[in-house]
Amino acid sequence: MSLSDLDLGAVQLPPEATRLRQEVRDFLATERAAGTVLGRPDSWLTGWDPAFTRRLARHGWIGMTLPRAYGGGGRSNLERYVVIEELLAAGAPVSAHWVADRQAGPTILRHGTEAQRSHFLPRIAAGACFFSIGMSEQDSGSDLASVRTRAERTASGWRLTGTKMWTGGAHVNDHAIVLARTDESEDRHAGLSQFIVDLRDPQVRVEPIRLLSGEHTFNYCHLEGVELTDEALLGRPGDGWRQVTGELALERSGPERFLSTLPLLSALVKELQRTGGCSPEQQARVGRLTARLASVRQLSLGVAAALAAGRPADVQAALVKDLGTRFEGELVNEVREILPIAARFDATRGSYPELLATAILHAPGYTLRGGTNEILRGIITRGLELSR
Ligand SMILES: Cc1cc2nc3c(=O)[nH]c(=O)nc-3n(C[C@H](O)[C@H](O)[C@H](O)COP(=O)(O)OP(=O)(O)OC[C@H]3O[C@@H](n4cnc5c(N)ncnc54)[C@H](O)[C@@H]3O)c2cc1C
Repeated sequence: MSLSDLDLGAVQLPPEATRLRQEVRDFLATERAAGTVLGRPDSWLTGWDPAFTRRLARHGWIGMTLPRAYGGGGRSNLERYVVIEELLAAGAPVSAHWVADRQAGPTILRHGTEAQRSHFLPRIAAGACFFSIGMSEQDSGSDLASVRTRAERTASGWRLTGTKMWTGGAHVNDHAIVLARTDESEDRHAGLSQFIVDLRDPQVRVEPIRLLSGEHTFNYCHLEGVELTDEALLGRPGDGWRQVTGELALERSGPERFLSTLPLLSALVKELQRTGGCSPEQQARVGRLTARLASVRQLSLGVAAALAAGRPADVQAALVKDLGTRFEGELVNEVREILPIAARFDATRGSYPELLATAILHAPGYTLRGGTNEILRGIITRGLELSR
């Protein structure tokens, strides 16, 4: 790969995207008026609202890229991009279906049996089936191939034992796609498999991991001898590493990797207006943030267009996630300096001090979740070295 291979080119969104964007904005205006969209930072992580999810599904905005035969929208990745960037920018409560829509659905479509596709995909598109990611463990985050969760062969299928960590939404979701070792192999990337696990199984014990804010979003997920039939196996035994790598590409390449804190910037601008306008210095700093946002968005759109066209964009996606997640964290610090007020998590929900406190308390996670920036830089370096 040479530096010119990193060039993503300018992206022209199709004309139908403009119409779609307006439809989403109209929908959001109605929701905002009803008090269901509060412009919260990190709403794709902690904005749990299954009723909102079902309303989105009725518009066809969940499972948009899944085939119509499975209840999906049969639409393009770029159309989905437009919908989700509008939802993220508005800070809409989208966490209930986020993982199901972003990665579980496409992963089941790609690797699932016909029975799994027919069962799960229509439910995902209807906003009626929510998924968690069961990858990380206590000592296996960056080094995912070292997972210790094991699935052993039994007469009727598999028995799953181990503890997953950081399992977002395991206390409220329906299923998790769990990465487990099914074979001890010399090659640590071989012998891994993925399973679709019912989170309400009595042998699944969920233990909260609280965020700094005290919110309960994450969990340890103890798999205490969960009995699974062969129907729970996703893809072929031993193909888990290849599958999980594909799933991570979906997890890392979207606009949520730079838009988590955009609602805070919007709230700052409103707060400056409310409190009597801004000084030239404040104006210049808001302008600089907006310019950075516009350039990261252009790069992110470039990644989305490359992926939609079937072109490899792993290295570019890693670069954009690194730039984007640093931007969303730095935005919080800038905003604190532009308008120095006390952040208060106990202030009225949706008020500026509360939104600021939420963004500050969530900030440590921005560059960790979905793979840390150090790991991404390793991917970038290896990608560039291939060109030598
Ligand atoms: C808010 C949040 C949400 C998450 N959601 C989920 C989820 O829903 N499901 C799920 O399965 N997981 C989830 N995770 C886990 C996340 O994927 C891991 O935290 C992440 O991959 C890092 O793994 P780790 O925490 O084990 O850190 P470690 O891998 O122990 O890393 C510790 C530090 O060492 C650095 N490091 C490690 N290896 C290298 C290396 N080779 N080169 C350079 N530096 C290195 C890392 O960059 C990091 O700074 C979530 C994490 C957070 C914080």
